[in-house]
Amino acid sequence: MTANPLDDVMYNLKVSPIPATCSVEADHQLIGETLLRLPTRVRNKILDTVTFVAMGDVLGQTEEDYCPPHAESKRGWDIYINFPAMRKSPKSRVMETIAHECAHVVLHKTYGTGGLEAEKGADDLIEKWGFKRTYKSYRQFGSASKKKAVKME
Ligand SMILES: [Zn+2]
Repeated sequence: MTANPLDDVMYNLKVSPIPATCSVEADHQLIGETLLRLPTRVRNKILDTVTFVAMGDVLGQTEEDYCPPHAESKRGWDIYINFPAMRKSPKSRVMETIAHECAHVVLHKTYGTGGLEAEKGADDLIEKWGFKRTYKSYRQFGSASKKKAVKME
């Protein structure tokens, strides 16, 4: 354990574009702060398998891969966080969004990563982690039975 647990998380965090080229390092810190609030087991899984893609304020950016994609893990994930779109949102809301996406990684075997069950399941899980739900209504995702019908096609 180091004096600052956030330093540990930031050291192990895979985020693109790399902080040195990114105009909004504070966004990366917010990812780290969110991960610190996840259960240790979940945090380690996320750090091990996820690359966060933080959309910065620049219009375009070309980056050579600084890290072979998920060379050591069986399966890797990219989580895209559109920070510019949430500039007016409270910090808590942004952290809920980050946690929600992490929940999708944890739950993908149970629910997949999209659709009604996946969205509800992800919000159920982040509630357990101490975050507020990200959706007020799940109507846009239709009903579970509808999803099954689509699957059968
Ligand atoms: Zn979702």
